[in-house]
Amino acid sequence: VAERVSREVPGTRVRRVRLEIGARTGLVAEALEFGYDLCCQGTALEGSTLVIEHIPGRARCRSCAQELETEDWVALCPCGSADLEWLTGDELRIRDVEVE
Ligand SMILES: [Zn+2]
Repeated sequence: VAERVSREVPGTRVRRVRLEIGARTGLVAEALEFGYDLCCQGTALEGSTLVIEHIPGRARCRSCAQELETEDWVALCPCGSADLEWLTGDELRIRDVEVE
């Protein structure tokens, strides 16, 4: 992520990066925050703040068309079906970047 932002905003200093992370990516916000400062050293992002927006997983059941929201990686519809179409939760994207 740090590399991508550096490429997108060459020559500027970045103050804040906002990331959207879906519940189903398996990424832990704390782990990312922990590694962030280290990754940013020596780049335009050094000293910037990482803001993580968590996106819960939403799925629609293909059996009964009910929608459910879950933090789990696998889920069952209350009707018992595991045949789910995932609507959100797989996101990993840079939402916006604030530069100086
Ligand atoms: Zn269902």
